[in-house]
Amino acid sequence: MTIPLVDLKAQYDSIKAEIDAAVQKVIQSGQFILGPEVKAFENEMAAYCATKYAVGVASGTDALHLTLLASGIKSGDEVITTPFTFIATAESIAKCGARPVFADIDPKTYNIDPTQIEAKITPKTKAILPVHLYGQPAAMERILEIARKHNLKVIEDCAQALGAEHKGKKVGSQGDAGCLSFFPSKNLGAYGDGGMVVTNDPKITETVRILRVHGSKTTYQHFTHGFNSRLDALQASILRVKLKHLEKWSALRRSKALLYNRLLSQLDGIETPFIEKDSKSSCNYYTIRVKDSRLKRGDLRKHLDSKGIQTMVYYPLSLHLQEVYKYLGHKLGDFPQSEQAQEQVLSLPMYPELSEEQIEQIVRVIGDWRSVIGGR
Ligand SMILES: *Cc1c(COP(=O)(O)O)cnc(C)c1O
Repeated sequence: MTIPLVDLKAQYDSIKAEIDAAVQKVIQSGQFILGPEVKAFENEMAAYCATKYAVGVASGTDALHLTLLASGIKSGDEVITTPFTFIATAESIAKCGARPVFADIDPKTYNIDPTQIEAKITPKTKAILPVHLYGQPAAMERILEIARKHNLKVIEDCAQALGAEHKGKKVGSQGDAGCLSFFPSKNLGAYGDGGMVVTNDPKITETVRILRVHGSKTTYQHFTHGFNSRLDALQASILRVKLKHLEKWSALRRSKALLYNRLLSQLDGIETPFIEKDSKSSCNYYTIRVKDSRLKRGDLRKHLDSKGIQTMVYYPLSLHLQEVYKYLGHKLGDFPQSEQAQEQVLSLPMYPELSEEQIEQIVRVIGDWRSVIGGR
């Protein structure tokens, strides 16, 4: 039997009646763009994220882009971020005309290493954009301290980390704004694209609201050039249903991660995800590090695949080495931790419905691989 990386069908089957009713209601209402469903969902999300405001947009990428614009990031500015993330993080900086400036990651957490940030600050630096990768909160206390000292904005990429906490504080609620994605594979996934900005800042809120509808506050009165970037009502209605289950699902993910950690800890050469004290990960992805090079991550992937177990590498090429960022002038060796992570990380199946037997099977297949290649 195959074990997918994520199983969206199993989740739908468990909430089919609720979802179908919510979708029918929107179709009957004839209100498809913004409207009461989106408004209600925004209010529920602001409450969930412990922020004053939430603004629905078309994707997580747009949430980042519009938030950066609303924070005043413009041509000539620099924004410090991690090279070990999805392209959207740095792309949104570049789309504002600003320069993405990378700081290496902490190899334990895969998140931006706060001790690497200050050396990157110049008079052009305007913001820090940490990513809570795989669902693990970044070192926000240190990052906020640096930002305050140098008068920088902090925009959090929470695409993988909705609901994650450090010392009881939700990600997205401490920086100037948090950017969420409802891409289907995220913890709260739509049946299509969607995103959201959560913030306590009324100015960011108002500007993102204007930017998402072609730069207008009232119909056909335009202040500026904006975008067509709205969360649609069908997605909002689906997400409202799913939000009610999110805490339960995230708790299930965390318990699966603990089981994986326990079983995998018996295998040498495999490093399980670091669990930070006082932190609660959203466990969006369960990512191991294949430390023993004899285990050959690429071959291990193929072996797992041959046994019907899907895996993924998030991410195989650090952003500073991407063709698109050639103009930044980086070379191999510039960010050694990120470069090592790209060779070693491997994400295993992770979703709330994943069974204990399936996890045991996955760990067994990894263990078998070790004996195939002659490990202990
Ligand atoms: C998914 C993701 C995004 C972009 O979200 P979309 O909704 O797909 O546009 C941005 N950053 C990170 C870290 C992500 O995982």
